[in-house]
Amino acid sequence: MKIQILGTAAAEGVPGIFCDCKTCQFAREHKGREIRTRSQALIDGKLLIDFPPDTYMHCLTNDINLSKIQHCLVTHNHQDHLYMEDIRMKMPGFGLQGYPITFYGLEGTMRAINSYLHAQMIDPSEVAKVQPLALYEPTKIAGYKVTALKAWHDEKATPCIYAIEDSEGKAILYGNDTNYFYEEVFDYLEKNPIRFDLVLLDCTFGLLPEMTWIGHMNLNDNIKVAERLKKLGCADEKTLFCSHHFSHNAVGVTYAEFSKAAEEKGFLTSYDGMVIEV
Ligand SMILES: [Zn+2]
Ligand SMILES: [Zn+2]
Ligand SMILES: [Zn+2]
Repeated sequence: MKIQILGTAAAEGVPGIFCDCKTCQFAREHKGREIRTRSQALIDGKLLIDFPPDTYMHCLTNDINLSKIQHCLVTHNHQDHLYMEDIRMKMPGFGLQGYPITFYGLEGTMRAINSYLHAQMIDPSEVAKVQPLALYEPTKIAGYKVTALKAWHDEKATPCIYAIEDSEGKAILYGNDTNYFYEEVFDYLEKNPIRFDLVLLDCTFGLLPEMTWIGHMNLNDNIKVAERLKKLGCADEKTLFCSHHFSHNAVGVTYAEFSKAAEEKGFLTSYDGMVIEV
């Protein structure tokens, strides 16, 4: 399985679009891995995860032809993960027809796509198919077994995280925009064990010692999730753990500072353009 991590930031990017805090100044000055666009990933060049406002730029910088990609999992209905204005660009006269793309996500997220297209007087069937997924019900998508697990995040945005298994027995857990996992997620994984090769975890709060609001994690929470997954047998010493989805609002979120602290705890740190093969 080849995972291309196209973007790694929370909603406003790093540097924040209208921000000039110390972290954003550092990012503007150092560039490279310090620049973070909105979170998105691509599995084996064919299964997209999330559709942020930076999708267009991700395609240009990573040589991705979006007209060839037919499947996109959406974690939830927040603008940094689902930028509907660009789905509109698939309509006749704007995008190539005859190459359908299907968006998958929990029902509320899928309803939001259809409502948006209807409000724009666009027939959704001309633009994109949507397929609602139910929590904890594995579904075959693009040859992968995909299971949506409940995320602890803004309920109104119908959030989930994804377990994705390929036909060769490799598995990843894509887990951004969630607090420390709900017990029901661990319960499901205990009853339906998956051994993950790679686990990506929300780290919006970086090295902040305490949470300032719920719905995201810091490095300490990432470590707690990793320990719990190991205890359940869903991860072992070969599993790669990677902190992902960063915000300039926290402390210790520059790549330079965070990656050092994360490495000491056995964690990778995601950066835009990172490629991981498992
Ligand atoms: Zn987000
Ligand atoms: Zn900032
Ligand atoms: Zn969110």
